[in-house]
Amino acid sequence: MNPFSPIGFLSGIGPVFQKKLQNLGITTLQDLLFYFPFRYEDFSNISPIAQIKVNQKCCVAGKIIGLEQSRSWKKRMSIVEALIEDESGPARVVWFNQPFLARSLKKGDLLCLAGKVQAGKNGLFFSSPVFEKIYSLSELKHTGRLVPVYNEVAGISSRWLRYIIKPLLAETAGQMPEILPEEILKSNDFLPIGRALEQIHFPLSLAMAGKAKERLAFEELFLIELAVLQARLKVNQQSSPAIPVNVDLMQRFVGRLPFRLTDSQRKCVWQILKDIEKSAPMSRLLEGDVGSGKTVVAIMACLNVIKAGYQTVIMAPTEILAKQHFIEAAKLLQPFKIKIALLTGKEDQIISKKLGYHTARGFKPETIEISRSKILEKTLSGEIELLIGTHALIQGKVKFARPGLAVVDEQHRFGIGQRAKLASQRNNVRTGVGQSSDKPNSRCQTSVRLVSDTSLTPIPHLLSMTATPIPRTLALTVYGDLDLSLLDQMPKGRKQIITEVVASGQRNRVYGFVRKEVKKGRRVFVICPRIDPRPACEDPSRAKSPWGEAKAVKAEYEKLSREVFPDLKVGMMHGKLKVKEKEKIMADFKSGKIQILVSTSVVEVGVDVSDATIMLIEGADRFGLAQLHQFRGRVGRSKWQSYCFLFFDSPAQKTNQRLKAMMRAKNGFELAEMDLEIRGPGSLWGSKQWGLPDLAMANLKNLALVEKTRQAAKEILLADPLLKGHILLQNRVKTFEKKLHLE
Ligand code: ADP
Ligand code: MG
Repeated sequence: MNPFSPIGFLSGIGPVFQKKLQNLGITTLQDLLFYFPFRYEDFSNISPIAQIKVNQKCCVAGKIIGLEQSRSWKKRMSIVEALIEDESGPARVVWFNQPFLARSLKKGDLLCLAGKVQAGKNGLFFSSPVFEKIYSLSELKHTGRLVPVYNEVAGISSRWLRYIIKPLLAETAGQMPEILPEEILKSNDFLPIGRALEQIHFPLSLAMAGKAKERLAFEELFLIELAVLQARLKVNQQSSPAIPVNVDLMQRFVGRLPFRLTDSQRKCVWQILKDIEKSAPMSRLLEGDVGSGKTVVAIMACLNVIKAGYQTVIMAPTEILAKQHFIEAAKLLQPFKIKIALLTGKEDQIISKKLGYHTARGFKPETIEISRSKILEKTLSGEIELLIGTHALIQGKVKFARPGLAVVDEQHRFGIGQRAKLASQRNNVRTGVGQSSDKPNSRCQTSVRLVSDTSLTPIPHLLSMTATPIPRTLALTVYGDLDLSLLDQMPKGRKQIITEVVASGQRNRVYGFVRKEVKKGRRVFVICPRIDPRPACEDPSRAKSPWGEAKAVKAEYEKLSREVFPDLKVGMMHGKLKVKEKEKIMADFKSGKIQILVSTSVVEVGVDVSDATIMLIEGADRFGLAQLHQFRGRVGRSKWQSYCFLFFDSPAQKTNQRLKAMMRAKNGFELAEMDLEIRGPGSLWGSKQWGLPDLAMANLKNLALVEKTRQAAKEILLADPLLKGHILLQNRVKTFEKKLHLE
């Protein structure tokens, strides 16, 4: 038996448990050894029985001197009662409803037990304590030591895990190959792997557990760094068309814009154009607050690529956004006579006619509707120069004649489900990573590199865009294979949005203000955390929540449309509506047919309604700061003063801290860092989806550690990119990659 044997090798693990463990991603003994506890129960102090105190958690060891089984006749419950004794005296122990104990225990057995001491009619006693028979003290698993507590999921208890892992450690921990290079172990004074595993599960002291965690956290982050940096190296071995910057063209484009690009936009466009000039494929993430103007940056890059004779594609997470990009692109590129097509789930359109130049208000592009198959045909023939769409783009058999640039907007919205789809669509899509693409874990970005029919053809450059602010530690880990461009400046003329926390007594004043603004022609968003008002019993997590019931969209809509604003036009929007319905509602909201839109967080990304000046957020404490900031970014897109009103369900103290941050922060980046600080890494968007191991997750707060691991990974790859001299390490990177769901 060695660490790589399948878990079925263990005698205690039959098919049922194998299945359960598999659900946790555990298939080998090694996986089991790397399933770490998240805390410890401290039963390390075995106290003399005479010293136990009521209501305290105590651990004692003694011999069974009396044992009997009875049945409570009220509830017909089994009761096993024992008397155990050490040198200092006896104690009573009672177990309820565990009749089998009467058979497995006998007088004379040595027991170690731990639990809360209670006071009864006949003095102090332990009630259903954790216990185990003592064979030797070093074999204690559940008592008499620091006891590991694991996440109990999928019908697997901590007790069972301890029972399995303890002997497993004794047998295999010593055989665990050391994957960290000698120098790293030495310079950081890390525990060797076997010792670290032993000490993280069954530590001698909390200090030793800490030392074990330190090493294992380093290891997890190190593996992430190696995985992303190697992915990058692999992409760099491919080639993309090297497209020179057409300065004249770019100047003409900028000259025709109805606004002046911000310095930040200029800087980012330049970084992108410079990347595209090289034959090494670009892998860049353009990060900028809502409204910072990412689209125009992407469109400039597309234009440059198109005029060099290549095709481009922009992929958006929703149909509304795809359509918005389509309209924006048609508008901005109108003078350049570019063939743009929209390909979404249901609608297939192509624009090739000349278009009038309008402002965003009331603009309607002239379109020719053609069938989906025509679009595919025209894409394959190279006639369509800019294809815009949703993930329909990667679901169908979209193939390009000469792909030059792929843009993925709001890329964090492509969740785990889509990623799985991407992986299965790989043959259609022809990922850019060529031969290596059948690797199960190449990332989403590489999956959308659409390449033409022969796999030797160059892959397109890749630009990802996101309004999700990414803290530095994330940029260095999960996004670590992307170069970053920051749009950290807002277009001129945007007024600061006035943000106000509304005390519960002030609701009517705010509603009065809302009415006045609407009468002036402005629009209002009301964001609620949930759709249906569900009874608490259906949702146990909520029932326990001290916050009470979250405002639900439907209830809020009823209230606002009937009681508060019966004279105004109130609409409702949530994720369960059909695409067509959503689009209709958004269109009505833009045009003013709807004046107040009650919505869930579906409006969070990208949607542009310039007359909207009020963002009212219910249950604001349920959203992260960065998310609140994004909601706020939905308003303030015009010359009018805009407002953001925050209503809080809970009066918790953290609220205050969060709010101050919300008022103070200049941009989303700052807020993301603060979110990380205040709420911890669990608050990061989609963080659960990445499948990061727990220690790595917990250490996303630790910038110094992240930088250290990245540096170490860079150094080792610089000397040995394929880790040929570190075979074991390379193998671990590979198995590790399979478990990560990096976006
Ligand atoms: P986001 O970064 O959120 O995707 P958009 O690209 O949708 O932002 O831009 C938001 C709005 O700002 C659009 O209407 C766009 O035309 C406009 N815009 C972009 N850049 C500028 C600029 N430099 N000056 C003024 N308006 C701009
Ligand atoms: Mg956008």
